[in-house]
Amino acid sequence: MRTETVPLSGPSPGTTRTLTRHHWGTEEARPKVYLQGGLHADEMPGPLALYHLMQALDAAEAGGRITGHVVVVPLANPVGLSEWLLHKPVGRRDLEGANNFNRGYPDLAALAGDGLEGKLGPDPEANVATIRAAFGKALAAAKIETEVDELRIRLMEATYDADIVLDLHCDHRAVMHFYASTARPGIADLLGRCTGSVLALMEDSSGGNAFDEAHTAPWRALRERFGDAVPVPCFSTTLEYRGQGDVSDEVAAADAEGLMAFLAGVGAVTGGPAPLHGPAEAMPLAGAVEFMAPIGGIVTWVTEPGDRVTEGQVLGHVTDAAARRRVEITAPTSGILFRQELWTTCLKGQGLCHVAGTEIRREGDLLSD
Ligand SMILES: [Zn+2]
Repeated sequence: MRTETVPLSGPSPGTTRTLTRHHWGTEEARPKVYLQGGLHADEMPGPLALYHLMQALDAAEAGGRITGHVVVVPLANPVGLSEWLLHKPVGRRDLEGANNFNRGYPDLAALAGDGLEGKLGPDPEANVATIRAAFGKALAAAKIETEVDELRIRLMEATYDADIVLDLHCDHRAVMHFYASTARPGIADLLGRCTGSVLALMEDSSGGNAFDEAHTAPWRALRERFGDAVPVPCFSTTLEYRGQGDVSDEVAAADAEGLMAFLAGVGAVTGGPAPLHGPAEAMPLAGAVEFMAPIGGIVTWVTEPGDRVTEGQVLGHVTDAAARRRVEITAPTSGILFRQELWTTCLKGQGLCHVAGTEIRREGDLLSD
């Protein structure tokens, strides 16, 4: 194991932060698998699972069972981790500009595309090497203005040439699920069986340049521009390790075991555990629909994440106790109620829950901000 400490330059005089990366296996080994947690800084199931995974990786290394290159960044957002306001972690957005930490990653195809004109040939493997080198150069030259810009670039410096990128998040109250593109269905299937995900939300373009998409969309864009000799070599996903309160060593240790099964399945380690679960149910991200609060008030539920629901079914209520008024929260489509908001109070117009269905109901930008 090798540990890298990457300095961030700091937003103001006298302040600096560091990003810590741990590596197992040799730099040149393939597959290169990158795992990070805590990009949204109030989501701790992922970092705790990675803490346990790193112990399993140490044991695998001691047993000579690391065959690929595994990179783990357990806490990917030292900026967000330090941001608390009124005794609560802020988590999802930076306090400087209220930007979502998981949006706005560099578009590598836009940055590197013109420089690849005339440099690609008929050999897909050679093209992968050429494109990865161009991505590395583009990142090294990318413009950095704020500390969060710098964090985005430093994270991607370890990922632009990876074969597999797993970004571990969690939701408010939710069942295990993940978001992925349709480019590598075999790996998506394996991931579901290793992690016990109930649901795989599939989409090629979700909008917003989230971290996971920043590793798959550029390959697709370059393939469209330069043709089929550009393969799609990277699998990248956002995993939602249930809800914010689902933080325990018992669950994290089981999740680490699932991740070891995945690493074994993709050939990064040998002798790993076998997948323990059935496949995730794949649904289009454009079929996942949110219910918005019709009034502000007290939020109560008569359902739980994971319930199968039919459109119009009552899922819970919003109660304005002062006005002695109660309205129903109803399923906006038929399918799986996979997440609910954490809070027991809401403002009018706030999203309260999501149901994933097979029917396409949305288009355009598909991610909640
Ligand atoms: Zn998140």
